[in-house]
Amino acid sequence: MSDMDSLFLRIIEREVPADIVREDERVIAIRDINPQAPTHVLVVPKKRYRNAAELAVADPELLAELITVAREIAAQEGIEESGYRLLFNTNEDAGQTIFHVHLHLLGGEPLGGLTG
Ligand code: 5GP
Repeated sequence: MSDMDSLFLRIIEREVPADIVREDERVIAIRDINPQAPTHVLVVPKKRYRNAAELAVADPELLAELITVAREIAAQEGIEESGYRLLFNTNEDAGQTIFHVHLHLLGGEPLGGLTG
């Protein structure tokens, strides 16, 4: 798995433009280019893991940090109280297309049933 394969690493390196809503040493959050809700942000650890399961084994604190950062962004977006969905797609059948783990934060309108 080459690091060059990761769109998110290229965004972190500013080789690809993105609408960055938050960044610190460990995490970057960007608006999804094809939003599925009024708020659709991708919360991404800067260190690359293939999916959420790999991250959970390797660095559970970082996994928890993604959820905390998502809550803070939800608050900034004014949707913490109205509600939001956090989602990891894991591997092909789930629709994962970028194999650098990322937490989807969705909200800003009623999102429908479990799978949207
Ligand atoms: P996945 O399907 O892997 O869970 O999610 C990948 C997400 O990345 C998709 O929601 C897709 O719209 C988003 N995406 C794909 N290419 C780009 C891009 O170049 N920039 C941004 N900001 N998002 C992207």
